[in-house]
Amino acid sequence: MVMVDTRIIQHPKVWEASGHIAGFNDPMVDDRETKQRFRADHLRGLYVGSPPANPVPKATVVASTEGEAVEQISTDKKLQKLMGVRSIAKQFAPEGADGAWLGGVDFGQGVVTCTVQAVSMETLKSHAAQMPSPFTGKAGALTEPKQFNLMFHTYAGAVFDEANKAYLRPETAQGIFCQAKNVWDTNRVRVPFGIAQTGTSFRNEVTPRNFTFRSREFEQMEIEFFVVPAEHLEGDEKTTNDPMAWYKFFRDWRMEWWQSIGLRSENLILREHAQDELAHYSTATSDIEYRFPFTSPGFGELEGIAYRGNYDLTQHQKHSGAKLEYRDTARGEVLPNGSRRGVAYLPHVIEPSAGLDRGVLAILCEAYTVDPARPSPEFMKFHPRIAPIKAAVFPLVDKEGMPEIASKLHAELRKRFGHLGMIETDAKQSIGKRYARMDEAGCPFCFTIDGETLKDQTVTVRDRDTGKQNRMPIGEVADFIDKALRG
Ligand code: ATP
Repeated sequence: MVMVDTRIIQHPKVWEASGHIAGFNDPMVDDRETKQRFRADHLRGLYVGSPPANPVPKATVVASTEGEAVEQISTDKKLQKLMGVRSIAKQFAPEGADGAWLGGVDFGQGVVTCTVQAVSMETLKSHAAQMPSPFTGKAGALTEPKQFNLMFHTYAGAVFDEANKAYLRPETAQGIFCQAKNVWDTNRVRVPFGIAQTGTSFRNEVTPRNFTFRSREFEQMEIEFFVVPAEHLEGDEKTTNDPMAWYKFFRDWRMEWWQSIGLRSENLILREHAQDELAHYSTATSDIEYRFPFTSPGFGELEGIAYRGNYDLTQHQKHSGAKLEYRDTARGEVLPNGSRRGVAYLPHVIEPSAGLDRGVLAILCEAYTVDPARPSPEFMKFHPRIAPIKAAVFPLVDKEGMPEIASKLHAELRKRFGHLGMIETDAKQSIGKRYARMDEAGCPFCFTIDGETLKDQTVTVRDRDTGKQNRMPIGEVADFIDKALRG
């Protein structure tokens, strides 16, 4: 895997080639009266009946998931008033409801069963005149959906005109495609190999919300893994080196990676896209999704893994006029001297594309634990690998030689693990308070130097999750942490 760090502002033609200028749009709807604008696919309807008989909802709300819509409708009294809802008796997700919720809703004419679900684009177009506004409840105030480009633009150079318009990258992937030939021409890599990049991307999201789930400036982690097109594979390679085999490898490996950093609950799922969900250039795509508290019972995407064929390189080759083919000298006709003639092709690509901020948010949600019985009733159960503080070293009391031993152990641990995270030390306050503070920060282990240490060179290790304390030789502390980080 080769790492790159490409530019935020690329040549504008890059975004023409990638299709972002023409197609990186969200459908938007305006409310003519209040002048507010929202994403058409975020309009959720409160429908009477389950399934609803009428395609036009009784009321609407703007929310990125059904879960968020239900939350808003059931807690926001002002919204309920606007919707004509007097009370909601109960809320539940019935068996097999699949993203739609029912409730005992009172509109003033007896309690009815309701469903909350997305208003389809077709209904928005065909029933614009009857559609209630999410802001005023009035019918007919909404425009039909119009396309809105999500790229931030700026001007490169002193003249602010169309010719100098440039864009902040909406994804890091295109920088990788543009540098791919430079990478394989100048590094000793052979297809299959990958190029990886982590960097900031910008999208003019209309409704940034849910903490860092949807931001206008966010971090992405992307890999373009270049593979040999199936038609050039020979013998056993047809199975081992096949693009679909690589796709499956990355799909499963990425899922295991999210699990390995602590997303181990049933809130993490791998969802293979159905054929009709695939982009036209993709043969297979899957999403790794997490059930965030604000998307529940639905899921939000953390990462997409797609087999994109050679679509991107073909586009960049076409728009730049530069030949981007890879010359594979291990293939082609066998020459009299036993070597190969070589073949040139545009490699196919498997693209894992993940959101770093979203991932961190998922880790925070997963780690957040409430236990009223503990001195720190809220604590963070981070996997040691991801915990920002790897360990803490405490002298039980700030005297009797204990601080000196603690300071020595602290220095040793910092030297060994300091590049992975923080190692804390603290001699103030009661030991219980110091443990509680570390629990809240998600530090997995605290090592305490006490009277015994002075006698037999052992320390106590306190486990954050169980609160249990054990003794161990001070010389084994570093290896103990090392093992936990690998677990
Ligand atoms: P969504 O459907 O949630 O808008 P997307 O399918 O457009 O996401 P991609 O273009 O596939 O997302 O981007 C790859 C990853 O980048 C996503 O899986 C997500 O984790 C992250 N991501 C995308 N948009 C944002 C954003 N506005 N804020 C934070 N992370 C984002």
